Amino acid sequence: MANLGMDKLASDYLLSNEEAADVALEYGVVPIIPEDKGPELHPRAVPEDMSVHPQRPPVVTIMGHVDHGKTTLLDTLRSSSITASEAGGITQHIGAFSVAMKDGQHITFLDTPGHAAFSAMRARGANATDIVVLVVAADDGVMPQTKEAIQHALDADVPIIVAINKCDKPGVDPSLIKEELLQYGVQTEDMGGDIQAVEISALKGDGVEELAENIVTLSEVLDLRAEVDIPVHATVIESQVEKGRGGVASVLVKRGTLKVGDIIVAGATWCKVRGMSDDRGRAVESAGPATAVKVMGWKDIPQAGDMALQAASEAQAKEVVGNRAEKRKNKARLASLEAMNEKRREVHVREDGERAGEKAYQTAVWEYHNGLRTTYPEKPARPTGESGSGVAEKSAAKGEDEIPVVPIVIKGDVSGTVEAVSAALKKLPSKKIRVSVLSVGVGPVSESDVAMAGSGEQGVVVAFNVKADKKTQSAAKRAGVQIMTFRIIYKLLEEVEQLMLARLPPLL
Ligand code: GDP
Repeated sequence: MANLGMDKLASDYLLSNEEAADVALEYGVVPIIPEDKGPELHPRAVPEDMSVHPQRPPVVTIMGHVDHGKTTLLDTLRSSSITASEAGGITQHIGAFSVAMKDGQHITFLDTPGHAAFSAMRARGANATDIVVLVVAADDGVMPQTKEAIQHALDADVPIIVAINKCDKPGVDPSLIKEELLQYGVQTEDMGGDIQAVEISALKGDGVEELAENIVTLSEVLDLRAEVDIPVHATVIESQVEKGRGGVASVLVKRGTLKVGDIIVAGATWCKVRGMSDDRGRAVESAGPATAVKVMGWKDIPQAGDMALQAASEAQAKEVVGNRAEKRKNKARLASLEAMNEKRREVHVREDGERAGEKAYQTAVWEYHNGLRTTYPEKPARPTGESGSGVAEKSAAKGEDEIPVVPIVIKGDVSGTVEAVSAALKKLPSKKIRVSVLSVGVGPVSESDVAMAGSGEQGVVVAFNVKADKKTQSAAKRAGVQIMTFRIIYKLLEEVEQLMLARLPPLL
């Protein structure tokens, strides 16, 4: 085992977490590193009794198949008469907009239609939506993305309101759509279920106000409430770099009230709120639950889906961000160590497999020579071996010349030593010739060792710290088997290498 760069270890040396992890990995064990707590921010626990907190607007996502009218519906909602009371300013794309109803109620629409945004947010743990409006074109019916949208809503346990769109088109029959939806688990009121369905024309505006009213009704049933006076908990819904303003990100406040001057942390960055603006580009001083605002003052750009939490001070924000960066680094490091270890394990498994095959082969060779077997065994395949063994198999299959091998029988005084010699010999680098270890054994060189070496072409017995008696020596002479004896391992390797070089096929 390598010393892992720990050169000056004394017996009383205490390993750091990282060093201990390295050692564990070296032994093929993936360490569990105790979660280093460090400074971190957490959203406040949701109180059991929400009834004392004020109601908040619903947050709605519009989903449905492409071309069924999602964008048209968003545009109509944004500019419809129901928002006239809040006229003023120019529509700004900040990832969400608010619609004011006649009775003073509000609805917040996330304005990136489609499931990609919804799923991306959900994948990041940000369930920002209270209600899904499922747009189905009356002239097209349930389509692949309609089914996907239904699945997303069901998975996220978010209630659906169906908007049957393009009802202005001649000859369309909305009831067919409701029937079709039944097959996908969407049971509208007409079909005996409790899911509302509204017939609309997003293009002409028909039914859009009714749709908005239905959303408000459902949100009242859901009794959506949020604390307004706790540290802010928000979700980043969009981010971009704006010329002259640096990092800008829109957030949807979930709980608490965000104010200019507040400090928030999101993902790998933080922000001292320099200014905020709403969906009409108007500057605002504060934003309560379920409202979206564009926030200026980010040190760096957070990502959509990041949770944004209020910090008590700049110092705390810096600490938390620093700690997160450190954790990310450690995680990446551990992942790369693990990948390295996995590779190492693969090599071990392969080598073990090769060794087992080799052993079985040697046993069979021994059995053959001792009359226990009538056929000479086949050499074990080396499926993933290096040093050109794969090429050897291929050429053997084609009946062409194989890479030449030096057949070797190893004898030694200690079993550990012979294994080491065997391993070292097999590693001798050459793509043109290789060592084939026929057998490995402990004890003096015997006549059967000579016989085994003689079974290969120009076989050699390598003896380490052991000798061959006279009888064996003369048997070797007769069989043309060379017995090489050594006392020093590097000499052994050197000489075998010389032997291999000498037996290299002539260059063409
Ligand atoms: P999205 O891909 O779901 O966002 O669909 P769009 O809003 O881009 O609409 C696709 C096409 O359908 C456009 O040509 C719209 O003008 C048209 N469209 C959308 N809503 C209606 C509607 O209510 N009636 C009619 N006749 N056409 C509509």
